[in-house]
Amino acid sequence: MIEVKNLTKQYGSKKAVDNISFTVQDGRILGFLGPNGAGKSTTMNILTGYISSTSGDILINGTNILDEPMKAKKEIGYLPEIPPLYLDMTVKEYLDFVYDLKKCALPRKAHLADVCVLVKINDVYNRMIRNLSKGYKQRVGLAQALIGNPPILILDEPTVGLDPKQIIEIRTLIKKLGKKHTVILSSHILTEIQAVCDDVIIINKGVIAANDTTENLTKNISADSRLIARIDGSREEILKVIKAIPGVISVVADMEREPGIYDYEIEVKEKTDIRRELFKRIVARNWVMLGLKSTEMSLEDIFLKITMGDTVNITVKKDTEDVTDEDNDADDEIDTDDEDTNDEADTDENEKDTAEEDEE
Ligand code: ADP
Ligand code: MG
Repeated sequence: MIEVKNLTKQYGSKKAVDNISFTVQDGRILGFLGPNGAGKSTTMNILTGYISSTSGDILINGTNILDEPMKAKKEIGYLPEIPPLYLDMTVKEYLDFVYDLKKCALPRKAHLADVCVLVKINDVYNRMIRNLSKGYKQRVGLAQALIGNPPILILDEPTVGLDPKQIIEIRTLIKKLGKKHTVILSSHILTEIQAVCDDVIIINKGVIAANDTTENLTKNISADSRLIARIDGSREEILKVIKAIPGVISVVADMEREPGIYDYEIEVKEKTDIRRELFKRIVARNWVMLGLKSTEMSLEDIFLKITMGDTVNITVKKDTEDVTDEDNDADDEIDTDDEDTNDEADTDENEKDTAEEDEE
């Protein structure tokens, strides 16, 4: 179990982490979610004893990391944001080095072999780390964290900079590791947290904005829902007519989707279905309803609202309902996976090109 009590880290006058407290139970995968600069790495660096805190307590399986750092650190495998790799070593040399550094007591050969099988780096075992793809480098970083078989793994943005295929591989691996280890994983990608983690802490500007199970965050808390209607007619008139419908909280004309035709984003009170009334009133004015769909707030919306400092009724994302034959899929949901993709041509495929270079 990891217990964090009133942790604060101050850089000059700036509080990078501001009096946060949380616990992580054994066997859970906790997602640490927040935008850049939220304080994720700072917290992880303190949890692992890599930097000191300004104030607060960290207990790792009951051991205070300040009182007995060696004992506490033995419990933890850490993959920092930038993996601490020695590029001029082969994977084998590096893992041997880490094994010695950690004064690992497990049988060397068998243990390193197990780790390599687990993170799937056997085929690059004798390669120079410098020549590995980013995906493989990340797995070597994970191997390093796993040496000594620590019960707790702390992984700082383990999928950043990887291509989508590598991301899925690393996520699958983390889920697998979560069966035997307690894992804290940081990410700024919601879908990643949803896919991998049991619990979520949303952190923003050094403060915890939400702390719950992933399931609860995505499911329990209900909120006002939203309709998106595409209507052909006079914009000003349409806004007035929609506003007058009972249950409507707000309405805005979104973008001009087709010449002179707008999407109207309508926020509706909880448990109010205005679709029929809306349709009738539109038709009564001889306008044309070109599309209508209802969406509920997604974790993405919640996250944005929280991190933008709004208070919010948190809610579930239920199936979106399309009552249109148009292709509205594009605005159904913000696909955060896009962020995962990068231009890096450093893929597993390219690996073969460099394979020969380090043969000598
Ligand atoms: P995250 O990992 O969530 O992106 P960080 O923990 O790296 O965020 O940073 C939190 C805040 O602390 C940021 O505003 C960052 O600029 C600041 N910060 C981090 N490290 C230092 C440092 N060594 N000196 C000064 N400010 C720092
Ligand atoms: Mg960071």
